[in-house]
Amino acid sequence: MSTLPQRLQALHARIEAAEHAAGRIPGTVQLLAVSKAQTAQTIRAAHEAGQTAFGENYLQEALGKMAELADLALEWHFIGPVQSNKTRPLAEHFSWVHGVDRLKTAQRLSEARPANARPLNLCLQVNVSGEDSKSGCDPQQAVTLAASIARLPRIVLRGLMAIPQPSIDIALQHRQFKMLRQLLDTANSQGLGLDTLSMGMSHDFPAAIAEGATMVRIGTAIFGPRGATQKDAQ
Ligand SMILES: *Cc1c(COP(=O)(O)O)cnc(C)c1O
Repeated sequence: MSTLPQRLQALHARIEAAEHAAGRIPGTVQLLAVSKAQTAQTIRAAHEAGQTAFGENYLQEALGKMAELADLALEWHFIGPVQSNKTRPLAEHFSWVHGVDRLKTAQRLSEARPANARPLNLCLQVNVSGEDSKSGCDPQQAVTLAASIARLPRIVLRGLMAIPQPSIDIALQHRQFKMLRQLLDTANSQGLGLDTLSMGMSHDFPAAIAEGATMVRIGTAIFGPRGATQKDAQ
């Protein structure tokens, strides 16, 4: 049995190995610890082990933990699907929202971001697998949509995010991540200045780092399996 600090340390070593293998500078990929279904106490332990950025999928669950952990300087990222009736609390309580996939949602977040807060960091989610069930915008529309979102006040469009089709097929993992990287390059060739590629989870982060991920979102490899009793599919 390993402890949480040991698992975090082992994960950092694997991230660094992937950076090295891709010829990238070690330490340039940021680790977002996905803490959905984990208790505030577990998050506190991860913070003690050096982790500061946490990703949550469910608003109510996240707000409860934020209140319990208000004494810590944590950076909260919302990585779940964004429902339009939840944009105000998201804009008020989070530093980042990753799952924006339409202009209307970005506009609502922009309007709801308190004027005295720092701009809200957004990622545009792209459906790189083409699965009907997945959220994310059509890749064909991504660059145009990114340009529209980037013009909104009180938000900063930081980059693109994807949740590819889960697969053990390494070539397929690479193709999907590469598509997102190429869209980011296209957007930047048009002057959008995006610096974030939010891609890669516990099972596929080495491929994501090889294709240019700047932020990997990892839960299981840090905290262990979430288990059937925990609400993973709310
Ligand atoms: C749950 C989740 C993750 C983390 O998945 P693991 O397989 O536990 O690493 C990453 N991104 C999103 C959007 C998620 O919902």
